[in-house]
Amino acid sequence: MRNLGILAYKTGMWLTCPVGRRSASPLASGGEVLQLIRSGEAVTRADIGRITGLSRPAVALRVAGLLDHGLVVERTDGPSTGGRPPARLAFNAAGGVVLVASLGASRAQIALCDLDGRELARTDLEIDVERGPDVVLPLLMDVWADQLDGRPMSAVKGVGLGVPATVEFAAGRTESARVMASWTGVVIPPRIAARYPVPVFVDNDVNVIAMGEYRKAYAREVSDLLFVKVSTRIGAGVIAGGEILRGALGAAGEIGHIPVWDGGGVLCRCGNVDCVDSVASGTAILRDLRARGREVSTLADVVTLVRAGDAETMTVVRRAGRLLGEVVAGAVNLLNPAVVVLGGDVAERFQPLVSGVREVVYRRSTALSTRSLRIERSLLGPSAGITGCALMVIDHILAPDAVDAALGVVTPVTV
Ligand SMILES: [Zn+2]
Repeated sequence: MRNLGILAYKTGMWLTCPVGRRSASPLASGGEVLQLIRSGEAVTRADIGRITGLSRPAVALRVAGLLDHGLVVERTDGPSTGGRPPARLAFNAAGGVVLVASLGASRAQIALCDLDGRELARTDLEIDVERGPDVVLPLLMDVWADQLDGRPMSAVKGVGLGVPATVEFAAGRTESARVMASWTGVVIPPRIAARYPVPVFVDNDVNVIAMGEYRKAYAREVSDLLFVKVSTRIGAGVIAGGEILRGALGAAGEIGHIPVWDGGGVLCRCGNVDCVDSVASGTAILRDLRARGREVSTLADVVTLVRAGDAETMTVVRRAGRLLGEVVAGAVNLLNPAVVVLGGDVAERFQPLVSGVREVVYRRSTALSTRSLRIERSLLGPSAGITGCALMVIDHILAPDAVDAALGVVTPVTV
């Protein structure tokens, strides 16, 4: 018995779990076995048995359940080393789709993704979210209907939305009156579920973008990341210990309304003065350039001036970066992230803004917090929101408990 660890007694049979092996449980359920297959830790039935300590019949039963429900596919075209190669098991990402939308203040990315979060169809729209949920939500649902392109409703496994507002995540209720007045207090999931009767998840737009960027680009290296979105407005998403930091009411990351030292006395739409949002956002850059006599109505106009080497424009953009840097430096001192990612269309287009942030953060943050700090531009760009929304849904619908419920497993199978 020396090599055997936990002994568990269940419905008349003794089960053993080898010591020192990674195992979710000595009675790993079908949902937990699926996790091993999705992560690539287990590729064959033998792998599953070795990792979980389950008996061969128990492994066979769980795999059969996953195959029956289309969650796993089996291939026998593995490398030939003489004899019949063991069947290789793979997660069936094509076994369903999720409907996602990443809403910004003035645009929306709407997509259909597979169960790995890959985009199968995507539509980008200019849209004013202030027109309210009665206009915007039906529009999203119509686009999804087109993107489904004849797929049956049973293929839809979940819906994920990122919205530019503070969100009470558990209820999917938008809370912020400041950003989207017409959405305040709206509980989004039932409105979507009336047409798409599947689990619906809603989170703050920057939280989902931060999670998308983190999971796809950084999760293997770091656990703590600060994502700052600089677009029409400024917001942030905080990844702490690999999870989104929400705060008591879901309002963590609202850095747009932290004031800077010397913004010039600009009145912010929130009623305070010199919030970083009012002096360093895309809106602020356009306003400041107009005040200096530049004819700009969109960020594309600003890009043209930057490319033309217009000194005044470079000055305005770099100043915005420095002002943003003040606030980011404070956040770095507080949170000690390994990476600060600057995303959103303003940060993605304007290197002088990123340079301004770097300059101030490395000067103002403590030596310890910047010793190995990286400040990067978003690698995923506009795809981060879609990816983050898809992962938010997939993480929930493929969580072991949810899978076990779908498999009809009430308690761990006891073979
Ligand atoms: Zn403000």
